[in-house]
Amino acid sequence: MGDQQPVIWWVRKDLRLADNPALTAAIADGAPVIPLFIFDEVVERYGAAPKWRFLLGARAFAARLGALGSRLVFRRGAALAVLRDVMAETGARRVIWTRDLDPDAVARDTAVKSALKFAGIEARSVKGNLLFEPWTVATKTGGFYRVYTPFWKAVRDTDVPVPKRAPSTIPAPPDWPASDDPDTWDYARPMDRGAAVVAPHLQLGERAALERLETFIADWVADYVANRDRPAVPGTSLLSQNLAWGEIGPATCWHAGRRALEAGKVGAETFLKELVWREFAYHLIYHTPQIVSGNWRPEWDAFPWGTDASAPAVIAWRQGRTGLPFVDAAMREMYVTGTMHNRGRMIVASYLTKHLMTHWQIGKRWFEDCLVDWDPASNAMGWQWSAGSGPDATPYFRIFNPETQLTKFDPDAIYTSAWIAEGQRQPSATALSYFEAIPRSWQLSPSDPYPTPVVSAGEGRQRALAAYETRGF
Ligand code: FAD
Repeated sequence: MGDQQPVIWWVRKDLRLADNPALTAAIADGAPVIPLFIFDEVVERYGAAPKWRFLLGARAFAARLGALGSRLVFRRGAALAVLRDVMAETGARRVIWTRDLDPDAVARDTAVKSALKFAGIEARSVKGNLLFEPWTVATKTGGFYRVYTPFWKAVRDTDVPVPKRAPSTIPAPPDWPASDDPDTWDYARPMDRGAAVVAPHLQLGERAALERLETFIADWVADYVANRDRPAVPGTSLLSQNLAWGEIGPATCWHAGRRALEAGKVGAETFLKELVWREFAYHLIYHTPQIVSGNWRPEWDAFPWGTDASAPAVIAWRQGRTGLPFVDAAMREMYVTGTMHNRGRMIVASYLTKHLMTHWQIGKRWFEDCLVDWDPASNAMGWQWSAGSGPDATPYFRIFNPETQLTKFDPDAIYTSAWIAEGQRQPSATALSYFEAIPRSWQLSPSDPYPTPVVSAGEGRQRALAAYETRGF
């Protein structure tokens, strides 16, 4: 295959051409590059929506690579076995990829790297999806940060290199290895009826992400502080799904935010802070990977959270039928669009873990199945923060009241009417689309009466506070 041995670029959560150090490194010496996407053991374990969204993103990226005279080779199987096969078929002796600090991915990558190195293959992972890698940020005593604000102060003035533009060409091998047809994979099956409803809401691919960043910086970032808590206003960047799958690089967002700040758009500082919340989540997941699986604060192990995912109140939560409009609207927004406004995430998580006293793992798992912007670090941190069991968590006595939150952040009920059909004479198309997306077995109809609260705001608060008191929190 030509003079130079090709290099394999293992394409993962870095579905972009610009601001992609792994791609830059792969093309640096002019050798042919084989972009390879593997539907591997880690991706197989993703929840329904993330798996579907990732594969859709990869297919869109394949078209983008095609326009540069390259290709995305699709294979399914255990990562190491597939890499070995493709190396044997192409003569490649080098593999490069963007680091992923999801503990599942770390375990896979560590095993792959050591096996390849043992076989004399050059296997290199590079930074790409974070601004500040966790081991580069330390407290004065050399430890890691457990609280966000000092973390922010430690990184905010760090120099972030200006991202590289997309290459105009990617050297292709004279012969391409065979590719599977991802259409034959069943990645959309777990989405069931939801796929057709969620699809039009997606913001798919690098171009869409860059356009959205531009619009956000031009029209919204200046008022980000005022608008970011109002779910009826598209005042946030809406880039989480693109950041999650690497369709835009964090450095690109960071520099856009910095430029906006220098131009006097004050809201940009808060946007930069939000990007750093994502970094903080990865700081935590790297230093304490158990954040995904157990209470970050072990004292919470004794708390009597409910663990029955099929309890009627938990089913009502999942189905957006708790009788509390803010909670229900947010849960339905997630089911129809694959994302949920941050204010909604905090409220539904607080309601599940505090009013319903249900274990955060149950909520976290449901989000893992429904979110197209699923991110293992932000999701775990968000749930533990909301439940009170995490680092830098909301104090246990801070129980969001879904009714007063509504008055504050959706005073004209624009958001709730957009998502709740029951009781409305002319429900909106979005509210009705929820009933097209949900499984038929739920047997819900827009003409059902809107439920009375499964646990009212006041009653739930009292019960949770009493439980905290009994346990000595
Ligand atoms: P913007 O307000 O425009 O913020 C810009 C970017 O900063 C976001 O795209 C995101 O990458 C990052 N960011 C913003 N807020 C946070 C935050 N609180 N924590 C970490 N990063 C943040 N975010 C995910 O990307 N994936 C998840 O799976 C996820 N699960 C969550 C679960 C719970 C219970 C909670 C409370 C929050 C969760 N978040 C998650 C964080 C946050 O809700 C979303 O990042 C945000 O709503 C995305 O909207 P946006 O892109 O418009 O954000």
